[in-house]
Amino acid sequence: MTRDAKAVVCREWGQPITVETIKVAPPKRNEITIKVAACGVCHSDLSATTGKIQYPPPLVLGHEAAGVVIEVGEGVTDFKEGDHVVSSFISMCGKCRQCVRGRPVLCENARKAMFTLPDGTVRTTDADGNDLNVFGACGVMAEYATLHVDNAVKIEEGVPLQNAALVGCAVMTGVGAVFNTAKLEPGSRAAVFGIGGVGLNAIQGCATAGAEMIVAVDTNDKKLEMAKEFGATHTVNINEVDDAAKAVKKLTGGVDYAFECVGAGAVAAQAYKCLGRGGTAVVVGVADPRDKTEIGTLSLPADERTLKGSWLGSARPQHDFPRILALYKAGKLKLDELITQTYSIDQAPQAFDDMVAGKNARGVIVFD
Ligand code: NAD
Ligand code: ZN
Repeated sequence: MTRDAKAVVCREWGQPITVETIKVAPPKRNEITIKVAACGVCHSDLSATTGKIQYPPPLVLGHEAAGVVIEVGEGVTDFKEGDHVVSSFISMCGKCRQCVRGRPVLCENARKAMFTLPDGTVRTTDADGNDLNVFGACGVMAEYATLHVDNAVKIEEGVPLQNAALVGCAVMTGVGAVFNTAKLEPGSRAAVFGIGGVGLNAIQGCATAGAEMIVAVDTNDKKLEMAKEFGATHTVNINEVDDAAKAVKKLTGGVDYAFECVGAGAVAAQAYKCLGRGGTAVVVGVADPRDKTEIGTLSLPADERTLKGSWLGSARPQHDFPRILALYKAGKLKLDELITQTYSIDQAPQAFDDMVAGKNARGVIVFD
């Protein structure tokens, strides 16, 4: 059946988000409808409202949710009503060259599912009957969402859904950048630039993986305090030093791993610059498509440095989402502490404002 759902929509780049009642059509073949329980507010959602991430509006926001399956479409065998699921903003077909070589975040078919479902259509319409695009084939900042099975991961029951939601982006992205992309070795020295929901998880990933030193770098002292709670051993406030990369180098002698979790070429350059010999800089932040960066070319060969990117923490979502939840249940990853503030969907504009003001580790919209 078609359902009415309150949803957070970007109508136009540069304009405030709106909370609207939309219609969510039932699942077609290989699709499921979920009743969303919670959805985290990620900087990428904000970037989609400014045009930094260029998904065309009108766009239902949200890509970091957990919920319960309430209807399954024809041909669905892996999900049934009542299953708990986490959304994946990467569509994983499971069959293309990248999927079969174990790199589902690079799925060759995912490009078809950036702001629509994989078949290029949507199940979401506004009050006037116009189609609404969906962020990352998800659009889960809404009471209900119809997803393709390639964008959903089944999880065990027993984990609060507002915690599980964060695994769909912030936790997987930050922890995965450390575990999967960098493959950080115990005893390493690390720096994390940008202590938002993603950066905090890079910090706790470094701590869990056994880093010796973890330097948190941000412009906001409150974020740097949070970083210490998640395992940072040192902090640098950019506003209090001439050059953040030099300050990190002075503290560590040059790091083995640096993680850029801001989304700006200038910060990627800093992350690269603070590396020691043999170091790896991982760019996680999503920059404007026109943004460029600059690095010292000679240091690549002479210091054997590496500069690489990380998309959803190089995840294999079907394997890694449950793995992360298992680490949480074993007390090895903090998820409860990530949720600074919860909001109703009507309070979504406040949740976005609070993210911009740097008030939260993560703000989460919870549904009745
Ligand atoms: P956030 O808004 O919660 O946090 C960003 C943090 O960066 C804030 O604490 C802010 O104070 C800090 N900051 C801003 N400018 C800085 C600077 N020049 N130097 C150091 N710190 C600075 O954001 P988030 O949700 O954690 O997302 C972070 C980035 O990661 C965004 O670009 C987002 O789009 C991106 N992202 C990437 C992926 C991926 O798969 N690669 C997934 C999710 C989010
Ligand atoms: Zn995100």
